[in-house]
Amino acid sequence: RPRVLSGIQPTSDSFHLGNYLGAVRNWVQMQETHDCFYCVVDLHAITAGHDPEALRRRTRVSAAQLLAVGIDPDASTLFVQSQVPEHAQLAWVLSCITGYGEASRMTQFKDKSAKGGVDRSSVGLFTYPILQAADILLYQADAVPVGEDQRQHLELSRDLAQRFNNAFGKVFTVPAPYIVRETAKIYDLQDPTAKMSKSASSPTGIIDLLDEPNRSAKKIRSAVTDTGREIVFDQANKPGVSNLLTIYSALSGRSIDELTTAYDGKGYGDLKKDLGAVVADFVAPIQKATHAYLDDPAELDRVLAIGAEKARRVAGATLAAAYDRLGFLPTV
Ligand code: ATP
Ligand code: MG
Repeated sequence: RPRVLSGIQPTSDSFHLGNYLGAVRNWVQMQETHDCFYCVVDLHAITAGHDPEALRRRTRVSAAQLLAVGIDPDASTLFVQSQVPEHAQLAWVLSCITGYGEASRMTQFKDKSAKGGVDRSSVGLFTYPILQAADILLYQADAVPVGEDQRQHLELSRDLAQRFNNAFGKVFTVPAPYIVRETAKIYDLQDPTAKMSKSASSPTGIIDLLDEPNRSAKKIRSAVTDTGREIVFDQANKPGVSNLLTIYSALSGRSIDELTTAYDGKGYGDLKKDLGAVVADFVAPIQKATHAYLDDPAELDRVLAIGAEKARRVAGATLAAAYDRLGFLPTV
């Protein structure tokens, strides 16, 4: 079976619909066909300042949500990144074969450092894509299911794998992005030209899986829509309505064509009201299951410990091979 690795940051108390539709939904599906490694990337979550208590809570909430949406810890390896020290170790090695200019071209750093300024951004935020490359390469992943925003980082991971292999001998599989076009980028409800984001969107721009359904319905009702009144899919001219159609289609399984036909002659208000109900139905079982997992943190931690142990076996072997190729003496 081909290998898969992907991760999600515990930077919020809930995943949003962008995380789910862009990435996590595919993680669940790939369990049928791939050998899957999924991690809560807590090392990535400390790059822009954080509160330790919130991080601990959010790490568990993230794991609970992954289990709730259908990640099966017996079929997949589900773990927390900081519990597998090889990630940080390989990241150092990869940072030594990454060019400074190459790292400087990463647009996520430019975006995320824009607000506070580059001088106030951490070096960790700058080297984030290198740690991400380590996450992927440690598991010899063939495919990495992510949203469109991660395409450039994936390209760096590929370059680093190839560069290491060429310089020191083949150790790493060169990973390919797995990005599902229709849902690769879910947009902010208040700014339908920007991606829905845990850290950058305003609360009213995000639909969280764990949000109270009435609150989500209200956010959808006040979503920015476009001039005109026709319900058509037109990303360039009607980004707001198109985003709502994308979400509606993905959650209901009805095609965009089917939806635009069904809403022919109806208004934005009808679409928004119905989408609110679709979201409410969709999140109800996820919320229930998430809370059930969170009610037993000891069991949750036990599942994650088993995952970390499974992950370390694979990560340890890859790191040992890389260290050997680099000329490091054997670990005693
Ligand atoms: P942050 O703003 O803190 O970076 P995030 O919302 O981007 O948070 P991540 O944990 O960085 O969430 O990303 C987890 C996964 O979700 C990644 O695969 C990412 O590509 C995907 N993703 C994030 N936002 C969206 C979105 N709006 N549409 C589709 N996929 C998304
Ligand atoms: Mg992100």
